[in-house]
Amino acid sequence: MFSTSIAGSLPKPEWLAETQKLWPQWKQAGASLQQAKADATLLWIKAQEDAGLDIIGDGEQARQHFVHGFLEQVEGIDFENKVKMGIRNNRYDAMVPHVVAKLRLKGRVHAMEAQLLRAHTSRKTKFTLPGPMTIVDTVADRFYGEGKEGRIQMAMAFAELLNQEALALQADGIDIIQFDEPAFNVYMEDAADWGVKALERAAQGLTCTTAVHICYGYGIQANVDWKNTLGHEWRQYEKVFPALAKSSIDQVSLECFHSHVPMDLIALLKGKDVMVGVIDVASDVIETPEEVADTIGKALQFVSKEHLFPCTNCGMAPMGRDVAWKKLKALAKGAELARQRF
Ligand SMILES: [Zn+2]
Repeated sequence: MFSTSIAGSLPKPEWLAETQKLWPQWKQAGASLQQAKADATLLWIKAQEDAGLDIIGDGEQARQHFVHGFLEQVEGIDFENKVKMGIRNNRYDAMVPHVVAKLRLKGRVHAMEAQLLRAHTSRKTKFTLPGPMTIVDTVADRFYGEGKEGRIQMAMAFAELLNQEALALQADGIDIIQFDEPAFNVYMEDAADWGVKALERAAQGLTCTTAVHICYGYGIQANVDWKNTLGHEWRQYEKVFPALAKSSIDQVSLECFHSHVPMDLIALLKGKDVMVGVIDVASDVIETPEEVADTIGKALQFVSKEHLFPCTNCGMAPMGRDVAWKKLKALAKGAELARQRF
């Protein structure tokens, strides 16, 4: 009961990449970079186990960014000439590559980390991939064409590639494959209209557990400012949860602690496992086990014990390493307290 996991990313050690950045530069190159990525992955597998988490991830140590890490293995994308583009409905600017031709996978994307993860923990494993709609929102396009139809076509093309990698991750022995779709909280109508369909295409044929993570973004200033404009009640989930409840996806990861999401929206996910965000990633203050257990208690009003999985609100990539480590421990201790309480 109350199996714990992180949303996905963890801070990179300072010998691997720049710290506290969303798009950090690597500090190694060539074979040394490959070795450093593997070393950092191992380090965080051990740290998650030591903290007491039940479901272990790779901490996304081998990808520069949760979207672009995947895109680097896709043919048909021009990484040489990146352009500045406002992403998540112009919430912040990012330097993004262009889609210039038909998309194809060059080969495996995450074989190294997934196989390392499977070989070095006997606990359940979770692996994250970006969702098709969020990918479409994080690239510029010169191939699929303007407008909604072009976006849908491009999303479906990415969904096919994600599906190839997801099936391979399943064959590597991964137990839970999670697609990250922060864009669902930005383009709610499109998400319900075609985002969920693209997601299901990405998960097609998987027999392992499937999940989607929807959040209000990393704890960076642009997101904190945006959240301040959303008012006292955040009801974005309300528009997409009914479509997700009807979908083939097994688990939904959402933001709760310190957010203004009304807890009762969880009831819209009837029948699904809910990964409840009990750790705030926009604050360096470490949650107490009591706070974590309290959030779990509030969520239990709307989801049964068997379906509740305590999690972090979002990834922890841009945070300090020491803060992230303490938050992992708080997550595990809080879930333990909740097991006694409930
Ligand atoms: Zn997130």
